[in-house]
Amino acid sequence: MSQQVQEKYEESQLYRIRHSAAHIMAEAVLEMFPEGKVSIGPPVENGFYYDFDLPRNLTPEDLQQIEKRMRQIIQGKYEFKKTVVSAEQAKKIFENQPYKLELIEGLEKGGLDEYGNPLKEQPEISIYQQDTFVDLCRGPHVQNTKEIKPDAFKLMNIAGAYWRGDEKNKMLQRIYGTAWEKADDLKQYLWKLEEAKKRDHRKLGKELDLFSISEEVGAGLILWHPKGAMIRVLVEDFSRNAHLENGYEWVFSPHIGRAQLWHTSGHLDFYKESMYSPMDIEGEDYYAKPMNCPFHIEIFKSHLRSYRDLPRRYAEYGTVYRYERSGVLHGLTRVRGFTQDDAHIFCRPDQVEEEINRALEFSLYVLRSMGLQDFKAYLSTRPEKYVGDPVNWEKATEALRRAIEAHNLSYEVDEGGGAFYGPKIDLKVMDALDREWQLSTIQFDFNLPERFGLEYIGEDGKPHQPYMVHRALLGSMERFFGVLIEHFSGAFPLWLSPVQAIVILIADRHLEYAREIVKKLHAEGIRVELDERSERMNAKIRDAQKQKIPYMLIIGDNEMDAGQVSLRARDGSQQNNILLSDFLVRAKDLIAKRAPGL
Ligand SMILES: [Zn+2]
Ligand SMILES: [Zn+2]
Repeated sequence: MSQQVQEKYEESQLYRIRHSAAHIMAEAVLEMFPEGKVSIGPPVENGFYYDFDLPRNLTPEDLQQIEKRMRQIIQGKYEFKKTVVSAEQAKKIFENQPYKLELIEGLEKGGLDEYGNPLKEQPEISIYQQDTFVDLCRGPHVQNTKEIKPDAFKLMNIAGAYWRGDEKNKMLQRIYGTAWEKADDLKQYLWKLEEAKKRDHRKLGKELDLFSISEEVGAGLILWHPKGAMIRVLVEDFSRNAHLENGYEWVFSPHIGRAQLWHTSGHLDFYKESMYSPMDIEGEDYYAKPMNCPFHIEIFKSHLRSYRDLPRRYAEYGTVYRYERSGVLHGLTRVRGFTQDDAHIFCRPDQVEEEINRALEFSLYVLRSMGLQDFKAYLSTRPEKYVGDPVNWEKATEALRRAIEAHNLSYEVDEGGGAFYGPKIDLKVMDALDREWQLSTIQFDFNLPERFGLEYIGEDGKPHQPYMVHRALLGSMERFFGVLIEHFSGAFPLWLSPVQAIVILIADRHLEYAREIVKKLHAEGIRVELDERSERMNAKIRDAQKQKIPYMLIIGDNEMDAGQVSLRARDGSQQNNILLSDFLVRAKDLIAKRAPGL
């Protein structure tokens, strides 16, 4: 959640409902375990949790019991009463609650809130009580327990969580719950969770044979299988051509570079924890690249540049390696090696405005071509610590803002949230389940041109420093593929489908005709397979459907005699006896349009 969204959330009724549900849950748990210790219970995105120190492990049956008791408490219409207390009073109230005592000490010293987060000013200490339960709490809460709808919340699961998130501390039991204003909202949320499970790219990746991760190769390293690789080739080819049409030049660069390069770039000062250990080549350290920028800079520097040579736009599908802890690795979306559709733009000050506009325009064009429609922009501005001239920062930030507004994108500003080296736009895309995925970035850099001494000769015959912009559209190809799989639930648009059509014959006597059809489709550039297995037709259809193949061409006696096919789409619609040429016209049209559906 961005800071802006978080602040809005904290003022909402939903936030009060969830926070109050957490207190009600704690009441029910303490009734079940009178000796239990409570720690913290904040609202979170989509719900709430509370951490407990209990004499035994909770079971799913316990959750049902707790839920039941929560509904009774809700019916009691108990008021949430706030009282401001002194630290001494608070310590007395929570004398048997060691975690609360620790939190009170934090509050007393100032500096930490009841969740242990840093505070700007000395807070007042307050408690909230509903029914029998008293909590150290700043609020806000609903008026009374009945504002929570008994059919609009649900306890979801139990997880382990260290006190204060520190693995040296005791492991507590965390109960996650979700709560909504209306029962329908809860239903919708649970449906989305179910749907997300079905669409999980790790599950579909296996079922559709798209990619794998092999322990033998290593965690976080992706093996693209032929079908997944086909999709990547199609995406890359499309994007490569689009880049050429948009004035980019393609470059290639190596996977490793000398330590000296990463010293100059500053990566060994600021980014070392994300880089892998060096390898020794003839007594010199070389590092696997975490970014492509220094290589593109060296290409720029290989000539003396004049103002007439600018802008230069270098693009590369650059494979980079970044350290991620094994615990956070996740399918295609958190990996250790990935390929960025990376580009670096070097331009004159008078070109900045147009370059940013072009970059954003291009980004939206490519994403829309992939069948994505909903975007949100985030503008990150100058932080307290920064490099470069504030005038340049201002100019760059305004160029970014104007570009966002010119494209009618809804956006949020993350004031002071930019990197120390420049402001940026992040473009997030909403998928079919309204989840936000960060894909494109357009990032200014006032640091690297300085460090590498980049210059061009201006109209005045003197050297000037160019502006430099890092830019990725799809971001990481691996991550983007994960988003694509989940967005389409594996039913890719026709132009991206690794297998676009499958020919299914009813009996062996149709084989020759079926092969003829395959040949014709193949010659027309359609990716087609033939199901020659001696399975029953229905089994073949079911398998093709499971593989989410867009079209099945079914061939029996009638079709063969008439020189036609029966067409079945993966959505179940069927059309009997159509001419192959008619099918081709339709398929080619959808492919040319890069239509998201059939
Ligand atoms: Zn509270
Ligand atoms: Zn870069």
